[in-house]
Amino acid sequence: MKYYSTNKKVENVSLQEAVVKGLAEDKGLFMQEQIPQLDKQFFEHIDEFSFQEIAFEVAKALFGDDVETESLKQIVFETLNFDVPLVAVENNIYSLELFHGPTLAFKDVGARFMSRLLGYFIKKQGLKDVNVLVATSGDTGSAVANGFLGVEGIKVFVLYPKDKVSKIQECQFTTLGKNITALEIDGTFDDCQRLVKTAFLDADLNKKLQLTSANSINVARFLPQSFYYFYAYAQLKKMGKDLDDIVICVPSGNFGNITAGLIAKKMGLPVKRFIAANNKNDIFLHYLQTGVYSPRASVATIANAMDVGDPSNFARVLDLYGHSHAAITAEIEGCSYVDEEISDWVKKCFSSNGYLLDPHGACGFGALKDLLKENEIGIFLETAHPAKFKDTIDRILDADIEIPEKLQAFMKGEKLSIPLSAEFSDFKQFLMSI
Ligand SMILES: *Cc1c(COP(=O)(O)O)cnc(C)c1O
Repeated sequence: MKYYSTNKKVENVSLQEAVVKGLAEDKGLFMQEQIPQLDKQFFEHIDEFSFQEIAFEVAKALFGDDVETESLKQIVFETLNFDVPLVAVENNIYSLELFHGPTLAFKDVGARFMSRLLGYFIKKQGLKDVNVLVATSGDTGSAVANGFLGVEGIKVFVLYPKDKVSKIQECQFTTLGKNITALEIDGTFDDCQRLVKTAFLDADLNKKLQLTSANSINVARFLPQSFYYFYAYAQLKKMGKDLDDIVICVPSGNFGNITAGLIAKKMGLPVKRFIAANNKNDIFLHYLQTGVYSPRASVATIANAMDVGDPSNFARVLDLYGHSHAAITAEIEGCSYVDEEISDWVKKCFSSNGYLLDPHGACGFGALKDLLKENEIGIFLETAHPAKFKDTIDRILDADIEIPEKLQAFMKGEKLSIPLSAEFSDFKQFLMSI
C-alpha cells in the first residue's frame, strides 16, 4: 500500500518511508491510497474474537502488504497486551476504557505499535540511528517514551511545555534515562509542535540526522488507534445490544484519535455518527458551525491533553471527506466545555453513577449527555486514567483519589530534563550537537 501526502505535491511513498519521514516534504500528512474494506463475515463473527485477534485482522487489512504476517501478528499482540473494556456507565452510555496500558492513556496503543513497527524496519532494512522527535501536551510523551524505552537504534526526544503538564505526566518521561531525553520548552504545546515540524523541514538537520515524528501525524501512531473502535463494537454485540444507532464520542485535541475512528467507519464499521468533544480550544467546533477553519493560540485548561489550537489531523479529516464541509457535518458533530462545565460533568457522573472520569473523558461523557438521542447507544472514549490528573480530580471532588501502583512507580525516579527556549535556533543547535 502506498501513502500520499494530503498536499499532493510529492510522490507517493511506501509505509516504511511514511513512518520514517513522519511528515511529507510538502508539509502534508500521509494517508493510505485506499481504505481497505472489511467484509460482512468479519462483523458477523466479531464478538467471537479477542481484542488482539480483531486488531490483527484490521492490521492485516491496513499493513498486510508491507509487513510479513508473522511479524505483524507479533507487533499487534505485543502492542495490545492489555484490555480495553467497554464499561456501562448509565443507561445507553458506555465508557471505552483506554487507560489500562503501561502509561494509563490511549496513546499507549499507537506508541507501542509504532515503536515495534519502526524496530521491525530497522532490523529488516538495516536502518540505524533513528531520532524520534515528539511534542507532548502530557500523555504522548509518556506513551512514546515508554513505548520506545530501550529499543536499539532509536533515540527519543520529548518536547514538553514547561509548567503545563501534570506532575505525574512529567515523571513518566523525565525519569527514564537510557535512550529517552526530555526537553523542557519555555512555551506552549503549540510551540513544541512547531519546533518539531520545523525540524523535519530543516535541510541541515535532515542532512545530519535521520529524524522522525512520533506524534499522531505519523501513520504508525494514528492508524492503529482504529483497532479499539472495532473492539468496542464487538463488545456491544457480545452484550446483545442494538447495533444500528451507535454514536461514538471522542475527546479531541490533535484529532488523531477521532480520525482513526473515521477510518474505521470507512473500513465498514457501522457507526452512525461521531462527536468530537473539545474543551475551550474549540477550533473544530467553530469549523463545523461556520465552515471556516481559523487556528488560534491554545489556552490552558484542566483537560490539558486537548489544549491544541491548530489540530494537525484536521488536514486528514478534510482529506477523508474531500474537503466538503457538508460531508463532514453529516458525520461529525461537535461540542465544547469550559473548565467549570468539565468539573460539573466529573461531579455529576460520580454522584449519579459512581463512575470516576478524568477531565478528558468528562468532555466525552458530557457531550453524550447533551447530544445523544433516545434510541441511540453512545460510547465515549475514556482516554486516560483519572489519577493522571489527580490534583484536578481531587480538587473537583474534594477527595483524595488513589494512584494506581503502575503510576506510583514512575514517581520514584529522578527528574532529568534539558531546558530550552521556544526559539527554533536553540532547538536546532541542540540537535546538531547530539
Ligand atoms: C492526547 C489526548 C487526547 C486528544 O487526542 P487527539 O488524538 O490528540 O485528538 C485526549 N485525551 C487524552 C487523555 C489525551 O492524552
